[in-house]
Amino acid sequence: MTGRTTRTRRRRFPRAGDPSYDAALRRVRAARGPARAHTCGCGAAAVAWGYPGGDARELTDRATGRRYSADVQRYEPICAADHRRAAWASRRRDRAPLDPAEVTRLYADGCSAAGIGRTHGYTASEVLQVLRAAGVQIRRGRTRQAPTGTSDVEERTTQ
Ligand SMILES: [Zn+2]
Repeated sequence: MTGRTTRTRRRRFPRAGDPSYDAALRRVRAARGPARAHTCGCGAAAVAWGYPGGDARELTDRATGRRYSADVQRYEPICAADHRRAAWASRRRDRAPLDPAEVTRLYADGCSAAGIGRTHGYTASEVLQVLRAAGVQIRRGRTRQAPTGTSDVEERTTQ
């Protein structure tokens, strides 16, 4: 026994004899059928098999960082909404620190704070905090704003 498992973030990558991420999911489907034939724990129709964590021998896909299990019984059928929530939770768990330079560049390229947050495992307000700390001028609202000084009327082209 390894004793009490504290919440370590140690990863175990697959070695010879361990299934790949895709192979593990194929095994689940072979053993338990397609996820669509099952119901999510919330009662909605399932769309995918998900690994909720908890396997002491869990594996990490080296390319994507996704965690998975070689044990087909560890998987649960999950609906689309819960699948998105799980993906978000895992991004949030495995997120790297926000790099102010990268966030600033993405924001300048037109990405929204919410969009940057979604892909990096942060909330929009956490991203805005980083942008403000970096001295970036925050855009207001969702609409594309005309640069200051540009007349609104000129934008209304005749039809
Ligand atoms: Zn669900």
